[in-house]
Amino acid sequence: MSVVISLFNQSGGVAKTTLTMNLGYHLAQKDYRVLLVDLDPQGSLTAFMGLEPADLDQTVYEAIMAGESLPLHHALHRMDLLPSNINLSGAELELVVADMRDTRLKVALEPVQADYDFILIDCPPSLGILSYIALVASTHVLIPIQTEYKALKGTELLLGTIGRVRKRANPHLKIAGFVPTLYDSRTGQAASSLHSISDSLASVGRIYSPVPRSVAFADASQQHLPLACLNSKHPSLKVFDEIVFGLESLLDSPISTPSRSRKK
Ligand code: ADP
Ligand code: MG
Repeated sequence: MSVVISLFNQSGGVAKTTLTMNLGYHLAQKDYRVLLVDLDPQGSLTAFMGLEPADLDQTVYEAIMAGESLPLHHALHRMDLLPSNINLSGAELELVVADMRDTRLKVALEPVQADYDFILIDCPPSLGILSYIALVASTHVLIPIQTEYKALKGTELLLGTIGRVRKRANPHLKIAGFVPTLYDSRTGQAASSLHSISDSLASVGRIYSPVPRSVAFADASQQHLPLACLNSKHPSLKVFDEIVFGLESLLDSPISTPSRSRKK
């Protein structure tokens, strides 16, 4: 069984997609077998990985709605991708009346689970059904939080959703931690928001070091590259290594047994 991690926060622009791509890349650099799942109808991860979402006939939408085999794209920066595009927005309504809707993504991923050590799911910016089925399919949830004024706004709703998923469908879902993002060390506001994140959430899950705000991220996404390929000395890479180290430890936790051959 692989470790399946949802990158989840109902706020947009908190770096879910950026983290999914970059953490996946760092895991792949350590020879772990990595699948990225784009579960956002905007297809940002799909575009970030260098595909044109609008050109794709087969996406995660067909896999979850029609039970078709997974249209995986292989070996993009050493990772595989289950892409998405705007068609997935139709699933939000269709799933409301669909049978067995909660486990649709979980069931769709089952045939390939043994092929991967890590499956990272990039959630859409909402608390709706798509995020719900991502959490049902996951062993863990990793929560990016933007270090800004009112950083904690919405965390109660977010934790409430995780609680409901645990109660109804996935009692083993664990919080892999919180990642403070877009941290601007020059502002007092960022420092104080970091304090409040630690004060309020350290009892709920591990708080990782903050990912610095840097224009290099925009350049990397424009060039469809992980940050490490653009600048091998960028300070954020240390933070990614720290998080990856934390994610590696999940392979040995009791609910996710390491797959037979962990390394490629
Ligand atoms: P989300 O998936 O949560 O909506 P994204 O990963 O798409 O967030 O990030 C939102 C925007 O912020 C993107 O333009 C991205 O390039 C930029 N971004 C992400 N992380 C950083 C960072 N550490 N510093 C500066 N910009 C960042
Ligand atoms: Mg996103």
